[in-house]
Amino acid sequence: MSKKEPIIEKTNSKPHSYSKYSWIIALVLALIVGYMEYRAQKEAESPMPVNPDLRIQFIDVGQADAALLICEGETMLIDGGNVEDGQKLYTLLKEQKITTLDYVVCTHAHEDHVGGLAAALTACKADTVLCPVTDYDSKAFRNFADRVDTFTIPHAGDRFDFGGAKVQILSCDPDAGETNNSSIVLKLSYGQTSFLFTGDAEYAAEQALLDAGFDPSATVLKVGHHGSSTSTSYRFLNAVMPQYAVISVGEDNSYGHPDDEVLSRLRDADVTIYRTDEEGDIFCTSDGKKVTFTQP
Ligand SMILES: [Zn+2]
Repeated sequence: MSKKEPIIEKTNSKPHSYSKYSWIIALVLALIVGYMEYRAQKEAESPMPVNPDLRIQFIDVGQADAALLICEGETMLIDGGNVEDGQKLYTLLKEQKITTLDYVVCTHAHEDHVGGLAAALTACKADTVLCPVTDYDSKAFRNFADRVDTFTIPHAGDRFDFGGAKVQILSCDPDAGETNNSSIVLKLSYGQTSFLFTGDAEYAAEQALLDAGFDPSATVLKVGHHGSSTSTSYRFLNAVMPQYAVISVGEDNSYGHPDDEVLSRLRDADVTIYRTDEEGDIFCTSDGKKVTFTQP
């Protein structure tokens, strides 16, 4: 009997010990699998570019918006400034020898965003034209629309590839009561870097896209509505958490943009601010790992 007792104890201890280790092993495995799934999802969202080449030019169009993006040979023009900026865009596109823009994004129908797009589409063709509306009661919009074969009205959540970058539409509301809030808001992800273009989206659109569960976090924020106090709410800024902000704004404009409140919110968040009224055209590049603001 005395010999058997230890054997019984031993056999009892085995399942107990096995059970304890299996919990730890299962936990470690779950963590590894979870991490691998997270990495795979992130890679699928924005894989690291093999030959990184993303260049963005925030074009100084005064109290208006325009940006030219070139990613691994593909081109995108987001907004075109006012009508009088058309010549600048035309010259820029010709100098860059761009014969076809892969994407033209008219964030919304206001003239300071659509005005120069007609001239841009005189300089070159456009494959895909994104806009919240196909019609708007202004000469500037009609001149633009006359040069567009087909409009694409995107939906929040839509995704598409742009060169080696991934683009997601975070907001586009053709039925918004306020035209600014119809703005196409898009996030461009390139490797570990990202850029958020907001058009003139105001609080209502910012809150709506957050409530819808979209992730607007970005390395660079093109500040909404030229730095107006109607945009860049605390909640939105906390979700974007940019390192850099670009404000497209006219010198001594009559709107008082950018608003002191917005500038102070950005400074409080430790964001480096670039302004077209102070710098003229603003250039930045991404190698997929970091964003660098450069000279032309
Ligand atoms: Zn505007």
